[in-house]
Amino acid sequence: MSLVDQHGRKIRKLRLSLTDKCNLRCHYCMPVDQLFMNEEKYLSADEYVEIIRELQGLGLEEVRLTGGEPLMRKSFSEIADKLGALNLKKLSLTSNGIYLDKYFDVLSRNRIFHLNISLDSLNEENFKKITYGNYLNRVVKNILCAHEQGFIVKVNVVMMKGVNDHELMDFVQFSQDTGIEVRFLELMRIGFACGPQNDQFISAKELLDQIKTKYSLKPVTVASDSTSFNFVTEQGAQLGFIASESQAFCGQCSRWRLSSDGILRACLLKDDGLSVKNTNELERQDLYQSLLGMKPLLRPKEVAHAMNAIGG
Ligand code: SAM
Ligand code: SF4
Repeated sequence: MSLVDQHGRKIRKLRLSLTDKCNLRCHYCMPVDQLFMNEEKYLSADEYVEIIRELQGLGLEEVRLTGGEPLMRKSFSEIADKLGALNLKKLSLTSNGIYLDKYFDVLSRNRIFHLNISLDSLNEENFKKITYGNYLNRVVKNILCAHEQGFIVKVNVVMMKGVNDHELMDFVQFSQDTGIEVRFLELMRIGFACGPQNDQFISAKELLDQIKTKYSLKPVTVASDSTSFNFVTEQGAQLGFIASESQAFCGQCSRWRLSSDGILRACLLKDDGLSVKNTNELERQDLYQSLLGMKPLLRPKEVAHAMNAIGG
């Protein structure tokens, strides 16, 4: 058995959610009074290792640690050390960056060099308005520090009309000044961002058109299963666009997701998944086979479940 579905899509990547908890409340991700799952439901470090080692044997190459906020998982270091020992082709992290400085040594020793850090505003007041947290300076300091130390940092910005789209050029300038890639994400209709926030949607094309009024852009080649398309400006800003709503990439998708309570999903936008909790290896082999048939080819329009619980 190998992890290739009936449409020839090879599952090479796993997004692994370590917790649904977060120390921010980004308004598109969760409400201020969000309730979180009981920690007793979490998969343990050893359970992660068991599952990922099996998937590795079937062709899995890359694991990205995410959440919620993965650096809030109390056993983060233990999990990173155990997964680091699996020698995956790539082990990476998506984080809001608040606790990044506490974990530089753990990340380096496990070769977790690729860091995607969320930063939706460069303005203190706006950062607070979007995230309900007063951490802008800390996050920017940690991003710059990680970059200086040689980590490969990408900044993720969810662009929203009337919320932070007026900062578009500031982010281009940020990339130009720092040499750090900035990726603009379209607001997805998932969980809390469905419905009332639909009017904040702005497409990657609209952003590109605005940027082109000031900069000339040269396309950059990316992997065929990359979620982003990329450009570099003449001045050296590196820009990526993740157009998951307007230009879905389901045909090339190579990802599965494992939630912190052990639900394996074939797609971020599919509610149904299969639980690996309390299963043995034989049962899991059947489960992996079934999951291969559960990956949609056409993009589901929206989904009610919360991004932080699935692993964004
Ligand atoms: N807490 C970490 C962080 O913020 O980077 C990791 C988890 S977070 C769910 C992963 C990414 O998903 C972040 O870049 C976040 O901005 C993005 N995200 C969350 N909800 C989204 C939505 N409705 N549309 C687009 N991106 C979203
Ligand atoms: Fe937390 Fe990330 Fe969701 Fe923001 S996007 S609330 S940082 S999990």
